[in-house]
Amino acid sequence: MAITDAVTAAGTAVPGVGEPCVLLKQGEIFLKGRNRQQFERILQANVRGAVRSAGLSAELTVREGVLVLRVARDGRTPAEHAAVVDRVAERVADVPGIVRICRALRVDKTPEAATAAALALTSADSGAFAVRARRRDKRFPVTSEQLNASIGAEIQAVHGLPVSLKHPDTQVFIEVDQREVFVFTEGLPGQGGLPVGMSGRAVALMSGGIDSPVAAYRMMKRGLRCVFVHFSGMPLTGPESVYKAYALVRGLDRFQGASRLYVVPFGKAQQSLATSGAGRLQVMAQRRLMLKTAEVFAARLHASALVTGDSLGQVSSQTLPNITALDDAVRLPILRPLLGWDKTEIMAEARRLGTLAISELPDEDCCTLLTPRRAETRAKIDDLHKIEGRLDVAELAEQLAASAQEYRPVD
Ligand code: ATP
Ligand code: MG
Repeated sequence: MAITDAVTAAGTAVPGVGEPCVLLKQGEIFLKGRNRQQFERILQANVRGAVRSAGLSAELTVREGVLVLRVARDGRTPAEHAAVVDRVAERVADVPGIVRICRALRVDKTPEAATAAALALTSADSGAFAVRARRRDKRFPVTSEQLNASIGAEIQAVHGLPVSLKHPDTQVFIEVDQREVFVFTEGLPGQGGLPVGMSGRAVALMSGGIDSPVAAYRMMKRGLRCVFVHFSGMPLTGPESVYKAYALVRGLDRFQGASRLYVVPFGKAQQSLATSGAGRLQVMAQRRLMLKTAEVFAARLHASALVTGDSLGQVSSQTLPNITALDDAVRLPILRPLLGWDKTEIMAEARRLGTLAISELPDEDCCTLLTPRRAETRAKIDDLHKIEGRLDVAELAEQLAASAQEYRPVD
């Protein structure tokens, strides 16, 4: 049940039911030492940034690895206040590094206040429940077992719900802290992973397709800030693929904030590759040129990796020999988080992220321009070097990067 409902049901106007707030459990708790400090510092900055980006404000404090977000009342009614807290919770649910988001009630440090809050939180529940109390302050006059028993008995009596300690439908957590008590239920899973920025920065190659946004998301979730590059077939194609890339970056921005998209008009370069006799290697030569151009951006933006949506064997450019030939094009590592994923798995993730509907819009993908009837599945690197030698591709990559348009889909 949402806090709003709990509060409305119980009427926070009734003194003692407490203040709605948000608790965030951070992930990767096994991290130690400096890694852990960095994790916490970046996560807190990202949480603050996310709240701010939604036009909200909340105070962030940390208690033994749990982040607490409180919203000032500012003359709001209890229901309005609870609604703002809900919006804060929704917003931070997108921040990588958090494994669980719990909307909680913060109450006075008395058993009575904890009981009232537990009743409020379970008022709309059905099914079995369990109370799990924990004392951080051992001076609290009532033990955890006593709290479990008394609050459990109260919920049973008032709401008529059965207790099940082994298989509860709802768990009610009571955390007795130094100055207050937090009462909350399981909450919702977060994104998990690492806070964006902790692993550095990468350039993500973003087509208008299904795979690349999912790939970028998976790497953001491992702490990589992604800067996006899209190659459009313009001026040989229309701008549709650019709109799609823009919409995709806009949709993914909620996971990292301050996203940037560079759009490279690639059509003429594709023609040049064709005229220099790329033939069956056209797609591979294009992909290598994209990677080389992305590497120019990476140098400019201090990024230390490239990210693509390649999945082993999915299309002819993604066979093992061709992946090897792509790796040969650049010095930076090419990260391919979807390499071992099936298309159905990628699509399920794209649906969850909300990118699938955008990716499925029709467009004229630059890769299908000039596509040979039979693409090479075992590209020879020497042959690719020969084609590239006729063009001075290093210079071409520089020119392509220089011709890019920069967009900031979310400001
Ligand atoms: P996607 O589903 O992401 O469009 P795809 O199935 O079209 O990928 P390919 O065309 O082989 O597969 O592209 C593989 C990867 O190369 C993409 O996931 C993306 O990272 C990169 N890529 C391909 N085309 C473009 C493009 N026009 N602009 C930027 N990156 C691209
Ligand atoms: Mg693909």
